[in-house]
Amino acid sequence: MTELDKSASTSQLNESSSEAGSDPAFLSKSLSLPASYVDRIPKYLSSAVVIINGNVSAQDKENPGSVDSELVTPTSSVSESDESNGRGSPPPPGHINSQNYLTFTESSDALLSITELTEVISSCQESILKSEECSEERRWLVRRLIELRYRLAVAKETLNQENQSPISETRVLRGHHFSLQKRSVATAKAMKFCERCCRAIWTVLVSWYECLDCGYECHIKCIENTVRICANVKRAEKPQYETNICPETNLAEQNYKCAECKSTINFRSTWQEPRLCDYAGKYYCPLCHWNTMMVSPARVIHNWDFNAYPVCRASYQLLTLKLHKPLISLEKLNPRLFGLLDELGRIKKLREDILVLKRYLITCRIALEKNLAWKFCQKRRYFLEDADRYSLQDLIDIKNGALESILEGIHNNLTKHVKVDCEICRGRGYRCELCDNKTIIFPFDSGIDTCSKCKTAYHHKCWHGARECRKCERIRKWSVVSVDSDDS
Ligand SMILES: [Zn+2]
Ligand SMILES: [Zn+2]
Ligand SMILES: [Zn+2]
Ligand SMILES: [Zn+2]
Ligand SMILES: [Zn+2]
Ligand SMILES: [Zn+2]
Repeated sequence: MTELDKSASTSQLNESSSEAGSDPAFLSKSLSLPASYVDRIPKYLSSAVVIINGNVSAQDKENPGSVDSELVTPTSSVSESDESNGRGSPPPPGHINSQNYLTFTESSDALLSITELTEVISSCQESILKSEECSEERRWLVRRLIELRYRLAVAKETLNQENQSPISETRVLRGHHFSLQKRSVATAKAMKFCERCCRAIWTVLVSWYECLDCGYECHIKCIENTVRICANVKRAEKPQYETNICPETNLAEQNYKCAECKSTINFRSTWQEPRLCDYAGKYYCPLCHWNTMMVSPARVIHNWDFNAYPVCRASYQLLTLKLHKPLISLEKLNPRLFGLLDELGRIKKLREDILVLKRYLITCRIALEKNLAWKFCQKRRYFLEDADRYSLQDLIDIKNGALESILEGIHNNLTKHVKVDCEICRGRGYRCELCDNKTIIFPFDSGIDTCSKCKTAYHHKCWHGARECRKCERIRKWSVVSVDSDDS
């Protein structure tokens, strides 16, 4: 039994009704909860105590829906998605009273223990009996009762499982590395859904499993039914993106079965409606495809289309794992984009300049000691390897204008070291040998061209009028002289 489950019985609550209020010390004592827990939810529990006893304080009467805004619980965040099917829409105004208040305050029951849930269910049943037949209020209360009973069933079932056999802390299944996550109040903020059964994971009531590699989360009871291969395993098997836009197969080819769990799908029932994954191009059942919206790499590469399209859960996890990996050689895959979009040309130049700057920094003792090149490219180290590979996030950042300023920042920092801060690097600049201008120039300055063989820098206009690179010319002449002297 946990602290949560040891909470006070009705008799305890009734005995101390006069003390009921928002005093954390009282709540801690009467509900057998740790003081730290009570501190975080004084309003919920004080309300619970008050309502179970049928005495609502003046403040609660005036403001029945008041909940601690800091503590956003799973139910409150699910209500948004539930709105479309009507389950989560707010109760009709005027239907909240002192008897059913707790039944209606969504946020509070996510934190209730089994004992408290039982209390709330019986109070909800009483309210139903008192409500007018066929009224909107009754309809509401019945729905609520079903939801509360479901929650109670989940909590009991999981508790039974946990009590029956010790649950292992880690499990390896279908490539997932599952780690047992212990129930806690701290996790109440983020709404979690089971990847197998789609239902909410009430992290305050139950423990659950999470894959450390791909983030797959499921109920303890659902782990044995896991069918999805870990997205991290799939990424290792096929590191590259699918570059065909929604390579759609038809339902008959899939034998009218979900591509993941193989359950039957058809358009006659909304529970079995086939949902197309825009990335994988296959049809999935609603349990394996939650209409999660993602940017499609193939659509970006071919159409420069950054709209989000619905994908199945497996594709969502795979795309999330690959988002920051430099997997897209954009110029090879779609060279015409560089002619159409000016920003791509500017970004390519910046990335090429960064590679030239890197040549200075990896031959400079001071820069190496400070690890300068890597320090400035922390999250995108591949910028120091080549100028063509982009991650999907890079392309999204090109579209929203963020990448150009990131690259300019890196460029400016590296240039400052070479041209201002460091004497060694400054000494490696060039004087244009094709004109009389004696200012020091660097290959990454604007208006500078370099010899493709020896990398010597020249002014753009001088280089275009020249027949040959001066340095290469000298090397050629010396080699002729040394060959001649060897012969004689
Ligand atoms: Zn589940
Ligand atoms: Zn996994
Ligand atoms: Zn399925
Ligand atoms: Zn230096
Ligand atoms: Zn010149
Ligand atoms: Zn040259």
